[in-house]
Amino acid sequence: MKRLVTQPFINGELDQSPEGSLLPQINPATEEAFTEVRGASLSTLEKAIEGAQQAFEQTWKSFGMRERADVLFAIAAAIRENLEALATLESHNIGKPICDARDEIELGSRIFEYYAGAISKAHGQTLPVAKGGLDLTLREPMGVVAGIVPWNFPFPIACWKVAPALAAGNTVVLKPASISALTALALGQLAHEAGLPAGVLQVIPGPGKEIGEALAQHALIRKISFTGSTESGARIMALAAPEIKRVSLELGGKSPNIVFADADLSKAASQSPLSVFANTGQDCCARSRVFVEASIYDTFVEQFLEATRTLKVGDPLSDETQLGPMVSAAQRSSVESYIESARTEGRTLACGGDRPHAKGYYLNPTVILETETNDRCWKEEIFGPVVCIRRFHDEEDMLREVNDTPYGLSGSIWTQHLAKAIRVARRVESGVLSINTHASVHVEAPFGGYKQSGIGRDLGMHALDGYSEIKNIFIAED
Ligand code: NAD
Repeated sequence: MKRLVTQPFINGELDQSPEGSLLPQINPATEEAFTEVRGASLSTLEKAIEGAQQAFEQTWKSFGMRERADVLFAIAAAIRENLEALATLESHNIGKPICDARDEIELGSRIFEYYAGAISKAHGQTLPVAKGGLDLTLREPMGVVAGIVPWNFPFPIACWKVAPALAAGNTVVLKPASISALTALALGQLAHEAGLPAGVLQVIPGPGKEIGEALAQHALIRKISFTGSTESGARIMALAAPEIKRVSLELGGKSPNIVFADADLSKAASQSPLSVFANTGQDCCARSRVFVEASIYDTFVEQFLEATRTLKVGDPLSDETQLGPMVSAAQRSSVESYIESARTEGRTLACGGDRPHAKGYYLNPTVILETETNDRCWKEEIFGPVVCIRRFHDEEDMLREVNDTPYGLSGSIWTQHLAKAIRVARRVESGVLSINTHASVHVEAPFGGYKQSGIGRDLGMHALDGYSEIKNIFIAED
């Protein structure tokens, strides 16, 4: 990376328009703005979308399968070559611990490699049909796809929108969140330098309400691939409706962590804190509702608290740090209002609830016990380092409570009883589940939610379906 990209990157160059709003990029660990990004204006957005349409028709469509794969592999290599610089930038920009940031940049690179390889494996079908003849399906690109992404995992989520969309033959207009635009802009430039033709990937930061909505409504946009809050997702769906634009939505969550008495207790208790506190709880998959079988409740809570107290909260640039600051003062205040409501309701704060450092948007991991199912903390997505733990006596009652949420994104089940794990996994209304682990995201496997956690699937070969139109062709035999 030669230098920081702080303007929209469109048509293979930095956009020089002075019109867009200035978006300060604040280091959450120091609370200081270290640079500003020039957001896209509406006229820059127009130029970006038209450029992407032109690049679709005149360039990218004519690239053969191998050429497209070569470019995607080259982007993956460019990301890897710049791993340390990108990770440091992400860490500065959103307070992400540097070790996690490195893993996420590496993940971005693997995503491009996966979809480079996937290009030659995505295929249509030949189908038996009642009428004599040959019926076959083709996958065709859609045109210009909008990718709208959040601030909590800015780089990997941008990659998991862009890579499959390009692999399927589309061009992309990517809108990062205003407070975390830097690595997405760097991706635009790196991809271009790696051989992606001008206009195939346009990166346009800007406020969601203005630039995001204008992008979502534009007549040339054929599909919107969105990750963010359920509220914004609903708005995007409404904006997409008049022109029947395709949408895929990855939204909020309130995921369960179910611990049965026959689980490997020390493993479950020691690993569970990071299943909710990693990324300082700003994770759509955060297992923020823990259900513990009554007979092991006290021991589990004791061990969970012990493991929580060892978590290292501090300077995101230190290799030792496990939890950095929250992304912004506003996000921390919002989380603190949940903690306050738990206090008001008389719940037990077994640890945390306070700020460990005077400077930086830090918040200690917070454990709330004896929550009632009507509590705000139990019901709503908090998006911060707060967990509620409840005990259960009966599997049926527990499952009813697990599913009593508008969300259905992720979750974990801890038991050494295989049949029970499968039985319970089948009953949980959720797009992603992990048994005896908290790993949720795999490049090769579909990721997405049930109910108000979303529509469609990112990652794996499933994602390609969301970026392709299926054309059915019937050939008469006589
Ligand atoms: P957000 O919805 O506020 O913003 C996400 C993106 O959408 C940003 O780029 C924003 O500028 C844009 N945006 C906002 N309003 C818009 C509108 N009306 N029209 C068009 N674009 C708009 O979400 P956030 O606060 O950045 O991220 C946190 C949320 O994202 C949480 O709810 C979290 O659960 C969710 N999330 C989900 C996943 C998943 O894969 N399911 C992953 C990460 C985050």
